[in-house]
Amino acid sequence: MKENPKTIEDKLYLLTYRSDHKSHIQVDQEKFKADKRNPKPITYICPAKVYVEDPNTGECIINHENCVECGTCHVVSPEYVTWFYPEGGKGVQYKLG
Ligand code: SF4
Repeated sequence: MKENPKTIEDKLYLLTYRSDHKSHIQVDQEKFKADKRNPKPITYICPAKVYVEDPNTGECIINHENCVECGTCHVVSPEYVTWFYPEGGKGVQYKLG
């Protein structure tokens, strides 16, 4: 009998993605850097760890291909995150998740 996934990483591993050639996520880097909260909410609230703050430049690295399309980042930080669904047929597929 298979065990249920225990960690978020285990669950994310069950998803299938059709990556788009362009990102469906935009971050205003100047506004991101101006956010003095430490850590910045989108770097810990995103379940797929899409946003990582570069410790050297302070810019936001966006791993858009990992997005599970929950929309949380756009609700939490609309001042610098612009988020759309990926183009039709692209993005995450939940068949096994
Ligand atoms: S929509 Fe959800 S999974 Fe995608 S980047 Fe935003 S918080 Fe992360």
